[in-house]
Amino acid sequence: MVRTYRSDAIVIGGGLAGICAALELLDGGKSVTLLDRDTEENFGGLARESFGGIFLVDTPEQRRSRINDSPQSALADWHAFARFGPDDHWPKAWAEAYIYRCKDDVSRWLRERGISFFPVPHWIERGLYTPGNSVPRFHMVWGTGRELALQLIRRLEAHPNRKRLTSHFGHRVDRLATRAGAVSGCDGNPIAGLYAAGEAAGFGGGMHGLRALEGSFLGGCILSGRIAGQAIAAGQ
Ligand SMILES: Cc1cc2nc3c(=O)[nH]c(=O)nc-3n(C[C@H](O)[C@H](O)[C@H](O)COP(=O)(O)OP(=O)(O)OC[C@H]3O[C@@H](n4cnc5c(N)ncnc54)[C@H](O)[C@@H]3O)c2cc1C
Repeated sequence: MVRTYRSDAIVIGGGLAGICAALELLDGGKSVTLLDRDTEENFGGLARESFGGIFLVDTPEQRRSRINDSPQSALADWHAFARFGPDDHWPKAWAEAYIYRCKDDVSRWLRERGISFFPVPHWIERGLYTPGNSVPRFHMVWGTGRELALQLIRRLEAHPNRKRLTSHFGHRVDRLATRAGAVSGCDGNPIAGLYAAGEAAGFGGGMHGLRALEGSFLGGCILSGRIAGQAIAAGQ
């Protein structure tokens, strides 16, 4: 049986990136269809299983623990771990964007949505004394990744534009249909209105090329999902 769903935007996947994109789209007054292959009880994706440690820079928790952090130092650390090559333009740009935006667009945004953090920031798991790990930046969500996902889902449910969101679980997307250039592909050109955010974007460019927004960690999924939702809401 063929069913037709109509909305301004389709979000494929109700993980953290998809939830953040949907929140931005509702903020922008758009109607949204969210499709996920999984069952509704797993809404939230991997974030529900995650530890909930978010990489953040220059936070109240760091200041309370007298940890001096700055975007410059965090970016230098990221570069030390990443060991970028000369052609890694987009991965470098993503690192810089995340580092400079995470304070407002991840940390503050989450706090404004009722998410709080364990008072003491921790070291990331990669090791204390290796270059690239100069101060603790791993901020554990109070209630772990499960609470992070559930709280953002609650925000979706309580959104003033909630009626514009339709969610369908048990819906696996196998391919993207193409018509009159609205969605196209395989020719190497960016696809208008199609963004890959979160894990789906993959490291360093992702499956959809220019419009892929990196996010292989919780903070990156939040930021990339938000950017994708904002861009679509703005008609880009
Ligand atoms: C055990 C564990 C611990 C972790 N701990 C941390 C941590 O402490 N800190 C950190 O930063 N990161 C952590 N991570 C990583 C983090 O959880 C993920 O990067 C993040 O949750 C990914 O979110 P996402 O929205 O990109 O993808 P996902 O959560 O994978 O969501 C994708 C969604 O898309 C749906 N989907 C997939 N294919 C289709 C399809 N064809 N059609 C329809 N729907 C589809 C899936 O059902 C899923 O709901 C952890 C991960 C795990 C597994």
